[in-house]
Amino acid sequence: LEPKEEFDHSSLAVDVMRPRRSDPALAVLTQEGMTVGEVESLVESTHYSGFPVVVSQESQRLVGFVLRRDLLISIDNARKRQEGVVSASMVFFTEHAPSQPPDAPPPLRLRGIMDLSPFTVTDHTPMDITVDIFRKLGLRQCLVTHNGRLLGIITKKDILKHMAQIANRDPDSILFN
Ligand code: ADP
Repeated sequence: LEPKEEFDHSSLAVDVMRPRRSDPALAVLTQEGMTVGEVESLVESTHYSGFPVVVSQESQRLVGFVLRRDLLISIDNARKRQEGVVSASMVFFTEHAPSQPPDAPPPLRLRGIMDLSPFTVTDHTPMDITVDIFRKLGLRQCLVTHNGRLLGIITKKDILKHMAQIANRDPDSILFN
């Protein structure tokens, strides 16, 4: 995002974030309750660079953000090296391991690869402010919430696409480029 690109348009974070109404739901991980196999199939069924971690599907309360790359590396390492980690092992991002039946395979703790304070804006945050934060903090993505519930994600590319769309829709704005 070049500093010269002015963003003086009245859009809000909710206008730029994904998923759009017609898109599949946001792909999230829960802080506990998913198996290694379930995490792997979620990651492998998408191409997203990262996944928000939430308390539960019902609450959609944000806990953190994990990069696809870190998830795949950690799971791969755990399967190779960590005694007994298999597809049925439970993954947890919480501080302490959730209680499990005595015959369960060893769980996999992934709290260490999670960004515990991913940047968030609310759905009504004006995009000029969001773009300014992206530039100043050098963000790749930011999460969008409403009343503490996770709603969506905005990547740097989403912002660039949105800027290009505005320029096409509004021929006058091209004059400023
Ligand atoms: P980029 O926008 O740089 O290609 P991604 O590959 O992570 O980055 O995202 C591709 C698209 O999918 C973007 O429009 C983004 O908003 C959206 N997206 C990113 N992560 C998720 C996710 N976990 N669930 C749903 N959509 C996502």
